[in-house]
Amino acid sequence: MDRRILRIAVPSPLYQSFDYLPPLDCPPYRRLQPGVRVRVPFGRRFQVGLLLEVLEESALPPEKLRPALEILDDEPLIPPDLMDLAEWGQRYYHHPPGEVFATVLPILLRQGHASGHSTVMGWRITAAGLALYAEGEPRRASRQRQLLEILAERPSGMTIQQLRQHVVGDQRNLRILWRKGWIETLGDAPSIDRVCEAPLSLNLDQREAVAAIDQALDGFQAFLLDGVTGSGKTEVYLRIVQTVLARGRQALILVPEIGLTPQLLARFQERLNVRLAVLHSALSNKERLVAWQLARNGSAAVVIGTRSAVFTPLCNPGVIIIDEEHDTSFKQQEGFRYHARDLAIVRARQASVPIVLGSATPALESLYNVHNGRYRHLRLPSRVGSSQEPSIEVLDVRHQTLDEGLSTPLIERLQAHLAQPDGQVMLFLNRRGFAPTLICHECGWLSQCRRCDAHLTVHWKKRRMICHHCGLEQSIEVSCPACGSVDLRALGQGTERIEQALKRVFPDLGIARIDRDSTRRKGSLQQLLNDIQQGQRRILIGTQMLAKGHHFPNVTLVGIVDGDQGLFGADFRAGERMAQLIVQVAGRAGRADKLGSVVIQTHHPQHPLLRVLISEGYAAFATAALGERRQALLPPYTWQALLRAEAVSREAPHAFLDEARQLAATLADGIELYGPVPAPMERRAGRYRSQLLVQTDQRGRLHRFLDQWVGRLVTLKATRKVRWSLDVDPQDLF
Ligand code: ADP
Ligand code: ZN
Ligand code: ZN
Repeated sequence: MDRRILRIAVPSPLYQSFDYLPPLDCPPYRRLQPGVRVRVPFGRRFQVGLLLEVLEESALPPEKLRPALEILDDEPLIPPDLMDLAEWGQRYYHHPPGEVFATVLPILLRQGHASGHSTVMGWRITAAGLALYAEGEPRRASRQRQLLEILAERPSGMTIQQLRQHVVGDQRNLRILWRKGWIETLGDAPSIDRVCEAPLSLNLDQREAVAAIDQALDGFQAFLLDGVTGSGKTEVYLRIVQTVLARGRQALILVPEIGLTPQLLARFQERLNVRLAVLHSALSNKERLVAWQLARNGSAAVVIGTRSAVFTPLCNPGVIIIDEEHDTSFKQQEGFRYHARDLAIVRARQASVPIVLGSATPALESLYNVHNGRYRHLRLPSRVGSSQEPSIEVLDVRHQTLDEGLSTPLIERLQAHLAQPDGQVMLFLNRRGFAPTLICHECGWLSQCRRCDAHLTVHWKKRRMICHHCGLEQSIEVSCPACGSVDLRALGQGTERIEQALKRVFPDLGIARIDRDSTRRKGSLQQLLNDIQQGQRRILIGTQMLAKGHHFPNVTLVGIVDGDQGLFGADFRAGERMAQLIVQVAGRAGRADKLGSVVIQTHHPQHPLLRVLISEGYAAFATAALGERRQALLPPYTWQALLRAEAVSREAPHAFLDEARQLAATLADGIELYGPVPAPMERRAGRYRSQLLVQTDQRGRLHRFLDQWVGRLVTLKATRKVRWSLDVDPQDLF
């Protein structure tokens, strides 16, 4: 009798895995390996789970165990290293195992679809396979050797039908060879004939950085590549990747959500003569699965993707690179709240490969890791070639007349730069829409979302009022709901309004507005970028979508319309974010041989943050900010977790967090608890939200506490009345 117990991660919000018996028709000699999918009965439905372990005993009595229905894969879909990473993530973020393991799988596989081998047209031997064959491998498996021999004689590959004429269709052994990377499927072909651009010759700083990383390719080591914008970081990545590819290994490159630009992809494609797998949120399920498989079987030597690509299986990893490592999009803000940068570090360590974190504005956490010796610091302090860093000027707008938020000196500077032939200018404002709210000039009424503690944003072109927090939309009021006056005015500025104002000042010049509204349609961003590149639009206005990754060689002036935004944020990271944004936006100016300048409009020209940043630069700012964090006992000097709760009633979240707090007090020493307090925006989408902050000075202590606490939260009386979630290392306290 088959006495094996299958421990399975089943997608569910429960903080546990589940034990099953093998399927009734599963022969006892069938090998069951962790990482295969298993269809199981769950409640009254069926679910696709992932096999975590095969055990001899269960804590449950045998009569309570149900048999699984079906084993869906012969071989593990998730390789052991990724299983380990997911397991690590599950423990570190204290998240339900079923949800964590579900995150690792592309959705089609999660739904139980076949993993896609059936579409294989044929096979071809790889360079690695050829080399090993020449050495007489595999010695022990004669069937595999026979297959290799046949394929070695026909390097261009054979279809399944051709293969069948020589050997019986031996799918199993073909798969084994394929998993080892000795053969590849026809159709996955890297285009070997493509002519690639020659690499640039590196400058001294780049050479030193490349040399340091090259020497570390055989083991784990984390590098912080700290280089100003335009200093040639991408060039360094390309060199490292080339070396890694030459050693027959794969490279995984993570970029921020908005950083995955066609420009960046083109650069990799032009330089590297291999197949790229690209993973981002706009892919269809099918495309995602295909990219995932190309990475997994090694056909794609380079994988570029956003946050979730950290879970891409690789058959032979050689390096991990994270571009713009400070970017907040690496942290997932809902469900399984992992930080892709932190998981990537764990993954690199487990795989014994180096990891390179690149940024012009490193996260304070990363700089701290340099200080304490965990990361090695590599610097590219100056821009490549003749291009110089832009000058930054603070424009005091107190007492100035502002025309739609634009001061006269700013307009004059725009005029001067636009008077240059081909000159382009860029204005940055991190607020889309026409105006953040509508105000009644008679009585002071403000347009308010009825589901959130937030104003409705005026979108003039659409003639709608929209809540940016819950998506609620309504038409624009024609008269004040409070007093009936028709004197309603748009208060404040968004990108749409700035665009309109600039149209009046510069009626003859093309304007490109780049924000989530103007780029929603597929292809529209590309169109705008093309127009800018060709000089048809000379004024650029945009939100943070403009701040990242793009390269506009003719932009010589960058204006930050509202430098006060972010100076006084509720979150202790607001200053860091603001500084990063200013430096990143400034980095768009004067990237070619043209000198760039940056103008920041502010009501607080004496603000210490601005002053240090502008007179001494980001590194000095970061040192000062770290000093403040140490004084205030904030991360990275302490460790935090945030317990959030929300409900339709105002009382329930508070009651739950109160109970949670009392439970915590019985468990822990050396743990500080702050709250419960209402979230900074207490009501959102019709639900009240509260939070309880847990803080301590040792990471280990935090996790020992969470281990005990989180599992017991489900037993609290108030649990049933709220939705709650835990955020380990929260990136914002909202
Ligand atoms: P970063 O990623 O640090 O912003 P990039 O790698 O994009 O910098 O480099 C900025 C510009 O300088 C690009 O146009 C790039 O082609 C060019 N560049 C980088 N390194 C060199 C080099 N060694 N020689 C000449 N041009 C270079
Ligand atoms: Zn009114
Ligand atoms: Zn709302």
